[in-house]
Amino acid sequence: MKITTFTLWQLALPLKESYTFSGGRQKVSSLTTTFLRIETDEGLTGWGESCPWGEGYLPAHAGGIKAAIVALEPSLLGCDPRALDEINRTMDSALPGHWAAKSAIDIACWDILGQATGLPLWKLLGGAEARRVELNSSIPSGSAEQMIASIRAARAKGYRTHSAKVGGKETRLEIARMEAVADALHKDENLTFDVNRAWTPSEAIAVLNEVSSRHWIEQPCETLSECAHVASRVRQPLMLDECLHTAEDHLQAWQRGACEGVKIKPHRAGGLTKARFLRDLALAFGWRVHIEDVGGSALADTAAFHLASATPSSHRLASWLAHEHLTLDPVAGQGVRNDKGFATPPSLPGLGVAPDLEELGDPLGK
Ligand code: MG
Repeated sequence: MKITTFTLWQLALPLKESYTFSGGRQKVSSLTTTFLRIETDEGLTGWGESCPWGEGYLPAHAGGIKAAIVALEPSLLGCDPRALDEINRTMDSALPGHWAAKSAIDIACWDILGQATGLPLWKLLGGAEARRVELNSSIPSGSAEQMIASIRAARAKGYRTHSAKVGGKETRLEIARMEAVADALHKDENLTFDVNRAWTPSEAIAVLNEVSSRHWIEQPCETLSECAHVASRVRQPLMLDECLHTAEDHLQAWQRGACEGVKIKPHRAGGLTKARFLRDLALAFGWRVHIEDVGGSALADTAAFHLASATPSSHRLASWLAHEHLTLDPVAGQGVRNDKGFATPPSLPGLGVAPDLEELGDPLGK
């Protein structure tokens, strides 16, 4: 089987409500997603998607994703899409880095492998059955009252695990906000305070040594070194997200005792092949993992949930559905959906999601 054609679409996906995070430094009101269709000489077609959470969240943006996929295409035409490791080596040789672009290609190739074998991705990724995955809410920064109202709204949709975006620079105000949000939780609920890199190490240490909450703290500072410095001086368990891209980043985090858990996201890692390896590394280190994608429609969510579903519940924490924040649904009714706070990946062959071409509009020219 050989890859014959790449076709790209880009789509604006407005959020239902604008989303503030990283201590107010970042605000997103619309995403730009990239859909990729890969066709083969045997008639099978695979779909992938890559969607940054705005321009300022990670070193990835929609224009760069399109350009990188176009740059990778000549190296991949004629390759067997089912040979995932070979596909990834070819991509890494042709264009180092650019993990977000590679994610869409890798996911589309997994989709083709699944269809060629008649198996869903959760099975190909090592799962015994389509296990449901608990959902994680995402609570944007705001006043304590606004954040508690958002948690209440998420609770009404079945969510029992919440990721509250903090990172304010006024230590006393931030401690008061965190205490109020933590106090508003029900007894059966879990919480992460996600700082999204907003604090300096001294700010992180000042807040975390005074706040009474012992919930997870995610990505308190910009770099791995800063987060490792904080981890050795606070009592809360740390989760790392934005500073991790490669296997070496994860190994460094382990060697430096920088965290007790990590976020694993295909868009940030370079696709499902690399995300699976990072998942296995995390399990070997004894870390807890959230497996989800950075943004996008239910197609991107579903790819990540196949891997989450195939991950042992002993180490797996809840996963986020990005598409629940969007006003548009280019894969209506397909893929993972919120069912009272849980979602189950489809058992159709492959990814189990294919966009409606009418929803996507005209493909991009090259
Ligand atoms: Mg995060």
